[in-house]
Amino acid sequence: MSQERRYSFEFFPTKTEAGHEKLLNVARQLATYQPSFFSCTYGAGGSTRDRTLNTVLQLDGEVKVPTAPHLSCVGDSKAELRELLNLYKDAGIKRIVALRGDLPSGMGMASGELRYANELVSFIREETADHFHIEIAAYPEMHPQARNFEDDIANFVRKAKAGADSAITQYFFNADSYFYFVERVRKLGVDLPIVPGIMPITNYSKLARFSDACGAELPRWVRKQLEAYGDDIDSIQQFGTEMITRMCEQLLQGGAPGLHFYTLNQAEASLAIWNNLQLPR
Ligand code: FAD
Repeated sequence: MSQERRYSFEFFPTKTEAGHEKLLNVARQLATYQPSFFSCTYGAGGSTRDRTLNTVLQLDGEVKVPTAPHLSCVGDSKAELRELLNLYKDAGIKRIVALRGDLPSGMGMASGELRYANELVSFIREETADHFHIEIAAYPEMHPQARNFEDDIANFVRKAKAGADSAITQYFFNADSYFYFVERVRKLGVDLPIVPGIMPITNYSKLARFSDACGAELPRWVRKQLEAYGDDIDSIQQFGTEMITRMCEQLLQGGAPGLHFYTLNQAEASLAIWNNLQLPR
C-alpha cells in the first residue's frame, strides 16, 4: 500500500469538561496509530469559536498530532475570520478545512460577508498566501441544496480552482458515487487529491437522521438490514464494520488517496475499520 496515502480522524469540540477529557483520551489513543492529521469541526456563525480553537491548539500542541481547524464563513465577518486565521497561523497550524457551513436553526438567514466556500478559499489565500494547506468539502452524491448535479460539480471545480490543495468528501455508502465524482472533476481539470470521508456505522436511528439531513443515501439493503437488528447494538456494529471495511477496500483499490474518519469522538469503530484494512501505523 502506498505510503503517500493519508489517513485522518475528525472530532467535534465538546460542550462539557467531561466530554473534553474523553475527547482527549480518544485522541491520545488514535494518536498511537500515527494518522496524518486530526481535524476539528467549527459551528457555523462562530458558535464553537473558542471551543474549536482550544481543542485544535490542545490536540496539536499536547497530543502532538498536526491538527486542522474547520472554518466556515456563513455568519462570520471578514474581521472575525482574519483574527482566527492569524491565531492559527501564529500557533503554527498549517492545514485548514474551509467551508461555507450551515447556520444552526434559530440563527436566522445566512449573514456574513462571504457567501460560499470558494470565496473563503480565496480570502484565506489573500490573507495568508501559501501558509495553509486548504482542504475543501466534496459531495459525491450532490450537496443537498445544489440546484442540480451539474451545477454542484461546476461549483466544486470553482472552489478547487480558487486555491484548494485537497478535498474531503461527505460520507457515502456507495463507492461508485465517489469514483464517478472524481472522474467528472478530473475531466474538468481538477487534479487535487479527493479523500473519501468515512462514517462508521454504530447506531441506526442517528445515522438515518444524519444521512437525511446531509443528503447521504443509506442504501435500502443496508437500511433494511440495520432495521432488522433493532436494539441489538453489537450486530449493528459488526455489520457496519464489515460493510464499511469492504467499501474502503474498494475505494483504496480504486485509487482513493487515503481515508478521513468521522469519529464522532469515539475510537473503537474507526479503529476496527483501520485494523481490518491493516492500514500502516
Ligand atoms: P459550498 O462549497 O459553498 O457549497 C454550498 C452549496 O452552494 C452547494 O449546493 C453548492 O453547489 C452551492 N454553491 C457553491 N458555490 C456557489 C456559488 N458561487 N454560487 C451559487 N451556488 C454555489 N459544517 C459546519 O458547519 N462545520 C464544520 O466543521 C463542517 N465540517 C465539514 C467537513 C466536511 C469534510 C464536509 C463534507 C462538510 C462539513 N460541514 C461542516 C458541512 C458543510 O458546511 C455543509 O455541507 C454546507 O452546507 C456546505 O458547505 P461547503 O463548504 O461544501 O459549501
